[in-house]
Amino acid sequence: MAQKEIKMDEENISCLSCLDLLKDPVTIPCGHSYCMNCIKSHFDEEDRKGLHRCPQCRTNFMPKPVLEKNIMLAEHMDYEQQIKVQYLGITL
Ligand SMILES: [Zn+2]
Ligand SMILES: [Zn+2]
Repeated sequence: MAQKEIKMDEENISCLSCLDLLKDPVTIPCGHSYCMNCIKSHFDEEDRKGLHRCPQCRTNFMPKPVLEKNIMLAEHMDYEQQIKVQYLGITL
């Protein structure tokens, strides 16, 4: 019963590496999401060991996964930002 669909909850909009909101969200093949910068620098370090693992679930990727921006998540993040701006606009 493994479900791979993306649920738009806090877990999915925060980076599992820096624990901040995702910047340029990238979802790797195991389904975990990171900021482009976070996962890039993580994989750059792993490059030296010749293996590429998800920092969260330690799934080993061979070859190194292509890091592509998750458009769906990115749009959701933009939406979240807009909501915040609107909210702040109203309360301030
Ligand atoms: Zn991050
Ligand atoms: Zn993972």
